[in-house]
Amino acid sequence: MLCSKILSWIAFHGVSAPARHNASRKIPPAASHGSRLHQSRPLCLCRRDLRDIQDVLQHPDCWEADAVNCRCCGSDRLELVLDLHRQPWGNDFVPQSEEGRSALYPLELFFCHDCTMVQIGYTVPKETMFVDHRYVSGTTKSLTRHFEEVRDRILDRVAFRAGDYVLDVGGNDGTFLSTFLPKNVPVLNVDSGRLQAQLSEKAGVPCLNDFFNETTALRVREERGPARVIHGSGVFFHLEELHSAFAGIKKLLADDGMVVAEFIYLPGMVRSCAFDQIYHEHLVYYTVQSFDALLRRHGLEITDAELVPIHGGSCIAYISHAGSRPKTEALQRIVADEVEGGFDTVEVYRDFARRTEALRDTVRRLIGEAHAQGQRIQALGAPVKGSTIMNYCGFDETQFECAVEINELKCGTWFPGTRIPVRHQNAVEPPDLYFMLSWNFKDEILAKLTDFRAKGGKVLIPVPEPHIV
Ligand SMILES: [Zn+2]
Repeated sequence: MLCSKILSWIAFHGVSAPARHNASRKIPPAASHGSRLHQSRPLCLCRRDLRDIQDVLQHPDCWEADAVNCRCCGSDRLELVLDLHRQPWGNDFVPQSEEGRSALYPLELFFCHDCTMVQIGYTVPKETMFVDHRYVSGTTKSLTRHFEEVRDRILDRVAFRAGDYVLDVGGNDGTFLSTFLPKNVPVLNVDSGRLQAQLSEKAGVPCLNDFFNETTALRVREERGPARVIHGSGVFFHLEELHSAFAGIKKLLADDGMVVAEFIYLPGMVRSCAFDQIYHEHLVYYTVQSFDALLRRHGLEITDAELVPIHGGSCIAYISHAGSRPKTEALQRIVADEVEGGFDTVEVYRDFARRTEALRDTVRRLIGEAHAQGQRIQALGAPVKGSTIMNYCGFDETQFECAVEINELKCGTWFPGTRIPVRHQNAVEPPDLYFMLSWNFKDEILAKLTDFRAKGGKVLIPVPEPHIV
């Protein structure tokens, strides 16, 4: 079956179909490539924009959008709802001292007509994204405060006994678990990041430096016994080994244990048009209903949930062994709201795609106007979501003199997918216009820019509606 993009291209241009695969084409080693789900053949990583039929003929793999199966239920009834084009994975900060550019991969959002799971089709290997990356959660103050609040919610719900411990899946530098240390609750971090594991240990939070999956879970259970609380913030939608991880959680969780899962809430993301939350690290995008459907496949279920403002709109789901706890009214209200909003139907996501394209056009126009007026423009921050919006808008060093950061680890690199240098904010003269990429921490950031704005500096905030303040 030929991809619909090729067919529509051919229908428009009236030429014969390209050969789907060149049998003599040399397939590069699989380890350096990602994959479509359940597809062993790597995609072409030529990093080109395909503009004419010659490109199509030479790079047929670049056009494949079919043969993708749902990450949750395995169905092939997936519909492509939003194409963000080829993008680098968002934390691919190439040092300026090195040759080469970020590799580009398809970034396409699909809706499953069988289980309603929204997901991206292409998987950049976890070894590429989660071993040597530069995100450390401790750099954001409001995140630390949020984690203290989540800790308090857990302490309200769970009376810890001797031998209990809290396990954090993908606990990064230990920021969340370190909030339990003054409460004398034992903790264990499981994180695949090398740097993050070192920082975690340094903060007094023991860290198993590995990916979390069923094998890891069984190993932990053997060494530490069942976990009373398993927490994951911004991680349960990152998991390439989705089913293995939840099978592991089922076996590791104590009989009366609780899983606390924090994730970007898809209905919130769609309502605020936060398409920049879509990036290769985020493989699936949950509603409470679609997440619960996945959990029920593993004998787990959501019994309570709440919506919180962190990351521009997140959900905290409280999960137990199926049938072990009653479901709360708060959970039922959230589910009813999802049904009323149509978040289990594809139309809402088609509309989201249309609004995303309109938002991109407005941002391009505003940056284009500022550039035409000779304004100096800098990207403010270099968060992973910033990579999605910058690359989707097609911005580069012609409009942006640099991106400024306070995370030293990102300074001295190229902004992913571009030749925009990332510099330390203190080492650079402030611009005329900042493009705020971490809009989800808008209040915290604007508070720091009081002087800059008092002197006439402007800030473009792209989401939910692009506007300049
Ligand atoms: Zn499905």
